[in-house]
This record gives sequence, structure tokens and C-alpha cells, in this order.
Amino acid sequence: MEFNKEQTIIGLKVLSDNVIWLWKKNNSVVVVDPAVSQPVIEFIKSNNLNLEAILQTHHHSDHIGGTKKLIKEWPNIKIIASAKEKDRIPFQNLSVKDGDKLQLLGEEVQVLEVLGHTRSHISFYFKNKTPVLFVGDTLFSAGCGRIFEGTYKQMFNSLKRIKSLPNNTLIYCAHEYTKSNLLWALNIEPDNKYIKEKLSEVEKKISLKELTIPCLLEEEMKINLFLKADNLKVFSYLRDNKDLWV
Ligand code: ZN
Ligand code: FE
Repeated sequence: MEFNKEQTIIGLKVLSDNVIWLWKKNNSVVVVDPAVSQPVIEFIKSNNLNLEAILQTHHHSDHIGGTKKLIKEWPNIKIIASAKEKDRIPFQNLSVKDGDKLQLLGEEVQVLEVLGHTRSHISFYFKNKTPVLFVGDTLFSAGCGRIFEGTYKQMFNSLKRIKSLPNNTLIYCAHEYTKSNLLWALNIEPDNKYIKEKLSEVEKKISLKELTIPCLLEEEMKINLFLKADNLKVFSYLRDNKDLWV
């Protein structure tokens, strides 16, 4: 996504379905959830960029796996993570909590705690003209994260919080799960024309080897059944159903 000449967000697809986001402004870059290090190092070096910080949404290895090697390359960078995860993200050097405001690349970024996938998952909100949310494994296009450590209620409330952001917020999720999420959603709502349209759009992008994310909050409100669920009971039913779906 290109905001303007100076500022872009680039997605690197790694492992089977992870996406590492590189938020670049002029010659500086902030990396979100580096699952691995090599493609990040190559990108930064070949473009002559300075790595300013790493943002960690949660402790899973497919989100922090590349961080140690990046620290070896650039020992002075900021590693920003939840203060509640000092044990599981031990290399953090800027510990944050819900509501904290950070200055990154000269912009204000707010920490939003979004519990459910893990017991201290955070996301990073950057209130640009086009607002940006680095959401980790809390929301996916047409899906949401599995509830590993939190409760259904926590995840439901986290999604509620995301829904309250501006409609034009771009959601940068950490996995490319869009197609399988849409197939599941279509199974639940076979007549939903927005889901059908989105599926053909996504299949086209995949055939062109393009990413299907970020996704737009306004569109997710139509195709994401977890966001559409307006009570905890419906949400829990959908989450259980999705967990069992193959
Ligand atoms: Zn995860
Ligand atoms: Fe993940």
C-alpha cells in the first residue's frame, strides 16, 4: 500500500502463510512480527534502509522467530512488545501497555490490547489519513484468530474494539488465510453476495501471486462473520464451528 511518495507498507510473504509487514518512511523502516530474518535483512540492505524498530504483537514463534538475528545485525533498534510478555518475549527493550503512545517514523502509534488469541496480545494503531492497524493474529480477512489462551468474551470484545475504529482503517494481519476463511464463511452464509464477490477477487489475486491483505474494515464488516456477530453466543458458535472446519 502506497500512502504517498515517502511512506509505504510492504508485505513479505514467508513460511507457509505468514506476512511480515515493513512500514517504510523515507529511508527508515519499522518491521512488524518478523517470523524469519533473512528476507527482512535482504530487503533492508538492498534498499539501503535503516531499521528503526520491531513491533511484536504476541509471543508465538511465527511472529518473533526472526527477531534475534535482526538484533544481531542492528543491535541498537527498539524492540517493542507487551510488558506482560517479558518472559516470553525476553529481548524486548521498550515494554508497552494498552493505550501507550509511541513515536515511530515521526508518527504517533497507539498500543491497543486485543486479548483472546493469547493472554496479552497487542496491536498497533497508526492514525494516518488512511488509518492502519497492525493486528497480528487477532483479525484476519474473513476470519479471526484462534482462541488459545484467552476467553471467547475477550476475543469478542477485542473485535468490538476493532469495529469501533474508523471504517477506512486498513487491517494488516499476520497471515494470508483469506481464501480458506471465505470458503468457510460461504458454507455458513451461502447467499452472501459480498462473500462470493470477495472470493472471486481473492482467487484472481492469488493466481497473480499477489497478497490478499491488508483488508479494509468497511469491507470486513460485510464479509467477516466474526465481526458481524453481534452477540457473544453467535460469536462463540462461529468460532467453534470454524475450529472444526476442514
Ligand atoms: Zn499466533
Ligand atoms: Fe501466527
